Amino acid sequence: MPNAAEAPIPMRALLAGARRKEHSLLDLTRKLVAAESPSDSKSAVDACVALAAAHFKQIGGRAKLHRQRQFGNILEVRFGPRPAPPRDHAKPILLLGHLDTVWPVGTLTSMPCRVRDDHLWGPGALDMKAGTAMAATALELLVEADLLRREIIVLFNGDEEIGSPASRPITEALARQCAAVYVLEPAQGLAYKTARKGIGDWHIQVKGIAAHAGVDFEKGANALLELARIIVTVSKWTDLKRGLTVSVGVAAGGSKSNVVPAEAWADIDVRIPRLADGPRIARRFSALRPADPRCKLTVTGGINRPPMERSRGTLRLLRKAQALASELGFELQEASTGGGSDGNFTAALGIPTLDGMGAVGKGAHARHESVFLEHLAPRTALLAGMLIG
Ligand SMILES: [Zn+2]
Repeated sequence: MPNAAEAPIPMRALLAGARRKEHSLLDLTRKLVAAESPSDSKSAVDACVALAAAHFKQIGGRAKLHRQRQFGNILEVRFGPRPAPPRDHAKPILLLGHLDTVWPVGTLTSMPCRVRDDHLWGPGALDMKAGTAMAATALELLVEADLLRREIIVLFNGDEEIGSPASRPITEALARQCAAVYVLEPAQGLAYKTARKGIGDWHIQVKGIAAHAGVDFEKGANALLELARIIVTVSKWTDLKRGLTVSVGVAAGGSKSNVVPAEAWADIDVRIPRLADGPRIARRFSALRPADPRCKLTVTGGINRPPMERSRGTLRLLRKAQALASELGFELQEASTGGGSDGNFTAALGIPTLDGMGAVGKGAHARHESVFLEHLAPRTALLAGMLIG
């Protein structure tokens, strides 16, 4: 007789269970979407978090709230046996998500939550309220079938869409205790995500000398012209082959057409594929000098999300997911993306991290945001399978 740890993972039974629970999964998703939760409204996020907390408790989770002053409260829920002696395979798995969205309160009036054309539509449905409901359903299945062999920690924050300033230390501390991290962000098309670029923001301020454009032209030091040169310089650092991009997103300066401008500034978005690119690009920014020595540059910024590199540990998780998916009758692809998630933080700690394990859909952060219903049950079963063993 194989013992519990060696028993095969019953994927077909999990799929049947997920299909049985599809209705309640949709119902929970709709309730979460109805609780609008933009990152900048603590009370709105708290209400959505409270709703999720009640549900996770109801299905047998041990919930703990990390109360926050400025941002939404952070929800931690534990399932399954508490960790046994420190043997690596018995370490918990961290399920990572966020309950905030990019949509302001009131969006529902113009973008109502509805099921139509095989999709569930609504603000935050894909990113990532359906993923939250999928996690709850997967755990409910495992609790009911008594299949949890190790502790699962679920963590939902309320500040991911604004860079996770408050939740990052909690995410990192929990990830350090875990064998693997599964991120409930939407899939990339149909694929799980094994790599994400790191993200940096820089701000460049140019101070020139104002002068009358007609009377005193030579006395002026044109801050806009200086900024234009810098924009060309930093844009050339883009290396598409390597996946490194430098994109000047906003720039402004000057006051009137007949005044040589004394002020100009730009905001720059940087994406890096590898951890080592961070210090390299930072050095280039701090080495910038004005071509007109009368101009002064102030350069601030840095990398705020490290890249999630395609590590061996992450690939191991992917292979397991692919094997389980084939038992369910579909081929699971992998993808990489330029967008960041909380998975960037956990992967940078060296914890195997697999991302994109939430819903399949389209239009995250866009008016046509929606979840493809067809994939809800199979992806929930796959998630459940990944939590066994
Ligand atoms: Zn998201």
